[in-house]
Parts: sequence; C-alpha cells; structure tokens
Amino acid sequence: MTENRETPIEISKDEFKKIGYRLIDTISEFIDTIDEKPVTTGESSKQLMKILGNSSLPDNGSPAEEIISKASALLMNHSLLNGHPKFMGYITSSPAPIGMFADLLAASVNPNVCAQILSPIATEIEMQTVKWLAEFIGVSPNCGGILVSGGNMANFTAFLAARTAKAPKNIKKDGLASSSKKLITYCSKTTHTWVEKAAILFGHGSKSTRWIPTNSSNIMDNDLLERAIKKDIKKGHQPLMVVGTAGDVSTGVVDNLKGIAALCKTYNLWFHVDGAYGIPAAVIPELKPLFDGIREADSIALDPHKWLYSPLEAGCTLVKNPQHLIDAYSSNPEYYNFSKNEKGSSQNYYEFGLQNSRGFRALKVWLALQQVGRSGYVKMIGEDIELSKLLFELAEDHIELEAITQNLSIATLRYVPIGYTQNIKNNEVYLNTLNEALLDALQKGGEIFLSNAIVNEKYCLRGCIVNFRTSKKDIEEIIEIIVREGKKMHQKLNKK
Ligand SMILES: *Cc1c(COP(=O)(O)O)cnc(C)c1O
Repeated sequence: MTENRETPIEISKDEFKKIGYRLIDTISEFIDTIDEKPVTTGESSKQLMKILGNSSLPDNGSPAEEIISKASALLMNHSLLNGHPKFMGYITSSPAPIGMFADLLAASVNPNVCAQILSPIATEIEMQTVKWLAEFIGVSPNCGGILVSGGNMANFTAFLAARTAKAPKNIKKDGLASSSKKLITYCSKTTHTWVEKAAILFGHGSKSTRWIPTNSSNIMDNDLLERAIKKDIKKGHQPLMVVGTAGDVSTGVVDNLKGIAALCKTYNLWFHVDGAYGIPAAVIPELKPLFDGIREADSIALDPHKWLYSPLEAGCTLVKNPQHLIDAYSSNPEYYNFSKNEKGSSQNYYEFGLQNSRGFRALKVWLALQQVGRSGYVKMIGEDIELSKLLFELAEDHIELEAITQNLSIATLRYVPIGYTQNIKNNEVYLNTLNEALLDALQKGGEIFLSNAIVNEKYCLRGCIVNFRTSKKDIEEIIEIIVREGKKMHQKLNKK
C-alpha cells in the first residue's frame, strides 16, 4: 500500500462531477419526456433476462461512468413508470423530484439514524418530520413516531407496541404461550393483508383475527364489532386491539373511527388506525370530519410513499404516547454507549422500532413538506380526488361503462358491452371474465396502468390517483382507451 491509500471504489472529484452532471441531465430528460413513454413495456421476464445477459460475478471492476450509463438505460427503458401521468394502479405515487435529491444527499452524508450520537442533525430532522406529519393529519404534535420502510412495517411497529401495552406483562419474559387467554385483534374484512401477516409472524395465529363484516357502504359494522368483542370476553379471550381503516386499499372507504374509538375506550382496547393510503386526505378542511376520531387513536400508520408522493420507501408510525414504543423496543446492550440525552431533547431511534442501523428516510419527506407546504398538499390531494370523481362521472355518463364506487381518490368501474343487461347471472359471469381479460390487456398494453378491485362480486377496473402528474386530459383519454380496448376484447372473446 502506498502512503495515500488508493481503492477501486473511490471516485475522484472530477470524475464524480462528470458522472453526476451527466446523470442529472439524463434524469431531467427522463422526467421531462415521461408522458411520451409507455407506462410499461410489457416485456416478459425471459426477454428481460436476455437483455440483462447471463454473465457471472465480475472478477474485475469496470469504469463507474460506463456502468452508471448502462444502468440508467436499463432502468429508464425497461421499467414500469409510476411517475407516468397515466399510471394509477395499486397505490404507488409519482415520486416527488425533490425526493430524488434527498436520497442522493442522504446517501452522501449517510447518517445512521439509530442513535443520536451517530446522526445528530438527522435525528432532530426525523423528530421534526414526525411532528409535522402529526400536524399534517391533525393529531397532537406531541405524539411520537418513527419513519419505517412502508405501510406494512408501520402497522407491524404499532401492532407490537399495542401488544406490549395491553397483553399481560409477563409475556415479555415468558412469551405468548404463557398467557392463558387468546389475544384478539379486530378489523374490518376490507383490512389490508398486513393484519394476517402480523397475526402469523408474531405468534398469535391467523385465528386470532376477527374480520368484522362491513355495511353496504363498505364501512366496518361497529355493532357487529361490539358483539364480537363481547362474545370473545365471554369465551375467556382477551380482546387486544381494534384496527380502523382510513382509506381501504380496494375502494378508499374510511371506517367510523369515532365509533371505534368509543368502543376501544369502553373495553380498554388499543385503537390503531391504518391510514397508510388515505389519512393524508385529512389535510383537506372539508374532509376533516370523515377522519373524526383519529385524535383518539393510540397509534396510526401512514405512508409518505403513497399520498405524500415520496419516492419509495417511506412509511411512518405515529403513537399517541411515545413511551409505548420505548416499552416495546428498547433494550440496552453493554456494547452501546448511547447515554440518555437531557430529558425531552433528543432520542435514539433504535429504541423506537424494529431496526437497528437505519437510513435517513425522513429527509425526503421533510424536504417535500417544506417545498410545497400544507397548502401545496391541500391543492394536490384535492385535485387527485377531483380527477378520481371525474373518472367516475365520465364512466357514469358513458353507455358502455358502469361506474361502481368512488371514495377519496379511488374510482372503480367496468366495461359493459351494449346489450349486456347487468345483474343477470350469466351476464355477470361473462362481465367478470371480460373485465379481467381487459385489465390484463390494458396492463400489458402500456398506454395506461390500472389495477383491479372486486366489489360485490363484480370484477372492476380500479384507478387510484396519487399522482401529481395526472391531468383532466389524461382522465378523458383513459376513458376512451378503456372503451376502445373493451370493445376489442369483447369481440375477441366472442369470436372463439
Ligand atoms: C398500501 C397499504 C398498506 C401496505 O403498505 P406498504 O407501503 O405497501 O407496505 C397497508 N394498509 C393500507 C390501507 C394500504 O393502503
């Protein structure tokens, strides 16, 4: 080794600038022309493997400039572009450009937001981000929280905090088996699959979840919820928590959260709100009443990588009393010298969640919140909702489309060929087959990207707009494309 060590992984200042400026040029061009590209290329895994090439692990290195340029082309030409104005499948947002800068900046300084001493300013920024997110949705800024990878992790983080708070204290030492009472979780039948995963992974078993039926508007029936709680108590089980959904993943419905909060109070249960998708809509003054009850929640999951347009990954768990996170997650191994800070000042995030080493996810959320402010989000989220309503209304007005549901920024609809009277059994079976085939064709076609929902046994096309690039024109074109492709698919299916 020479006195000044040279390593193959370092990039010199001049080269860094050259590659960096070029990459920024490429990315800005990519964003500027994203609407001209197909949403997805529809290439098969086999085709992609061929493009990627089947070489084995390289023995020796290649110039950074060359591989960055190749990687850019691969990603930009062979990806599904969720930043495209006509992408409205599932719930992934267009990524905010400032988030791209944020991830670069975060990776450059690389704070490990595990302990305050390892990430002095980043820890403070994450705390401020959590406080702002609480203010954003209208709960107390004194609640605590942590940034995690997404909605599943945000819900898991809350689930374990709830269990620590409400289960018999000895389970920390003796484990779940020590409790003679089964610990029960309640949620609506529309709740996202994370609940089942949590029940299985954390040792409760899938039978510990009560999936409560919904009413005709898809809202959890709180009378049936109370009946289920009473029944379990009578049987000798221990009700643990109720999950209220604030924006269900299929149709965007918000449960009666106020009612759930009251029941949780009566029966001393943990009240968790899964707002991964929908809760940012609480920022809109006219929609606030829809979310009544969230201030009483013990914990809330929200997903900045959905309706706050943060690039993946960013989820967040908010907890009314932050001590509940510490109770669940704190441990003090001998190899940590992370002394407690002055009371009330800072905190060590490893004591707030499952992760130890942690990246600086808060930065992209914090920067976007500053770039656009509350008013910018009120505008964008409000417009997403307006566009979703427009999609629904245009479907209502079209004789070959049936509009099914519209809540928050999710609309569901389906293609119905002329002459196919609905609600006749054979026709319904055919309409499901037709719309499923239509969705497959649309997804592969690359003009638009929708996903599906099953509503009252009807197979629907589902558009979820968490996309600041979508415009009125896109919605009008989407309607035309659905009808054009619907006709084609109907003909194709009837030729056979
Ligand atoms: C998306 C979603 C989740 C899961 O979030 P990820 O970020 O995909 O892990 C959980 N609950 C609801 C209501 C969601 O919309």
